[in-house]
Amino acid sequence: MSGTNTNAGVKFGGHSLVWAGDWSAENARFAASSAHKAGYDFIEILVAEPEKIDTAMTKDLLQEYGLTATGCLVFDPSTDISSSDKSKVAAGIDRGRRAIDAVAAWGGTEIDGPVTASLQPFDKPATPENRQNSVNSVRELADYAADKGINLHMEIVNRYESNLMNTAEEGLVYLAEVDRPNVFLHLDTYHMNIEESGMVDGVLAAGDRLGYVHIGESHRGYLGTGNVDFAAFFGALKKINYSGPIVFESFSSAVVDPALSDALRIWRNLWTDSHDLADKALKFMKAHYE
Ligand code: MN
Repeated sequence: MSGTNTNAGVKFGGHSLVWAGDWSAENARFAASSAHKAGYDFIEILVAEPEKIDTAMTKDLLQEYGLTATGCLVFDPSTDISSSDKSKVAAGIDRGRRAIDAVAAWGGTEIDGPVTASLQPFDKPATPENRQNSVNSVRELADYAADKGINLHMEIVNRYESNLMNTAEEGLVYLAEVDRPNVFLHLDTYHMNIEESGMVDGVLAAGDRLGYVHIGESHRGYLGTGNVDFAAFFGALKKINYSGPIVFESFSSAVVDPALSDALRIWRNLWTDSHDLADKALKFMKAHYE
């Protein structure tokens, strides 16, 4: 509220897919200028294909608009670090290292996303081998990231996108196995709405291991027009004195990244006006955090 900042440390970000389907110079500028104009503190840049990110351009752009940026790392079936196929695990670790390099090059410190495995529908549960390959790979990436001062946040996603873990409690068990100080939990209200017993217990269980938050509506469109109980979720964040990044994430077939939009099953237009969507989302999040 006016005059006092009761949530010092909390920064609000917007996912790049709110504005841009790729990170070409033109689309990156549109995303950064739009995020700045709407009043966001930072932007989350999709780094599913790190080789396509011009990090020098990105660094300059962020400076120009007074923003910082986190990186959202996503693995596909060919780079699945939980795979029983060693070549896919190796390809995933390679992609992860290059994503870490990219984020370090633009001056970022946080990588989020479903980093534990490929983002895809699995038709069988993960085997002990799948889990061990994931844990070993994340340890390797965490150590590589730590050398560059970067934290990794493991996003818990729903059962249709991961067979390794789908709840905060399961994520905490996984974190204990990985056992690295720069690896944290990443919760997303869209996924929590599907898998958790409400919007509170997972946050309270995570406590200071919660390092990153995605704010998404149940249909991934305008906040406040779906089924997610945001009052309960933000109340839980306050209870644990959460002070990390809070990112608005929304997808529509109006803005498409060919790989991610298909992986997330974004088949319809939930919105067409990025500016209106982003403006309202930031106001919504701030109103709930006050
Ligand atoms: Mn998310």
